Amino acid sequence: MQKTPKILIVDDERFNLNMLNGLLKNDYKIMVAINGEQALKAVNKALPDLILLDINMPGMDGFEVCQKLKHDPLTEAIPVIFISSYSSAADETRGLEIGGADYITKPFNPSVVLSRIKTQIRLKLQADLLTQYAYKDGLTQVLNRRSFDERLSYELQRCSRALSDFSLILIDIDFFKKYNDLYGHQQGDYCLQKIAQTLTSVCRRRSDQVARYGGEEFAMLLPDTNLQGAKAVAEATIKAVGDCQIQHSGGASSQKIVSISLGIAHIKPDQHITSEDVISMADRALYSAKLNGRNRYEVATRG
Ligand SMILES: [Mg+2]
Repeated sequence: MQKTPKILIVDDERFNLNMLNGLLKNDYKIMVAINGEQALKAVNKALPDLILLDINMPGMDGFEVCQKLKHDPLTEAIPVIFISSYSSAADETRGLEIGGADYITKPFNPSVVLSRIKTQIRLKLQADLLTQYAYKDGLTQVLNRRSFDERLSYELQRCSRALSDFSLILIDIDFFKKYNDLYGHQQGDYCLQKIAQTLTSVCRRRSDQVARYGGEEFAMLLPDTNLQGAKAVAEATIKAVGDCQIQHSGGASSQKIVSISLGIAHIKPDQHITSEDVISMADRALYSAKLNGRNRYEVATRG
């Protein structure tokens, strides 16, 4: 089911807020702000799908609010509709030039406003969907391989600059080919989805990322994580997957359930290292985990 789109209304006059709120509250989730500072805080916290922005406000005016939003990668994609009593062509041009999606002058016709809002919301939801297709793996909803590659190289550079530890874990489902042979590909897909969900539930920090690395291989990116932290995540992951109790009569565990093998690569802050190096370290560790009986993790460090 699709969630109700969120609209933030920004206006310093209570009368205008109430009128717009009354017009929109049946179809949208409404938030309000009465000045620019409050608006920026609300946007960063709730990331609305659309902002209706008054221009003439005490303190920071609507133009400035819009400029700030358009300069922040987190908020630049949120459409802004100016709703203003300034009706000159110069004001309208300025509003559109600094990134406004539309410009409506007060007093306005309610049904015109409604349909222009509807258009902007539709475009925003379409853009969100495209972003999701571009970054996520369709089956499991974790990051796809391409976003993983981008993210890995970004985080490696960031951790190296910040003199911070970095860990990568590669994860492979034990005897997954046999699982597909025994239970069919549809059940195999279910297993992949369940494992992806489980990995996501273990990676709770906002900076941690789970990706689908290949067929039945996943990866966890753990920035700012030392070896002890990475081992704790690996142990929690093995346990969480075991707790899922996905039956696998040809599996590696004595309990006849699906298990995973993990390879940890840990990089110390002073090591300069490429994405390829980290992946091959994790790959080597994963290979050892397989050799040593599966349903376990092994570690590769450098130096
Ligand atoms: Mg005003």
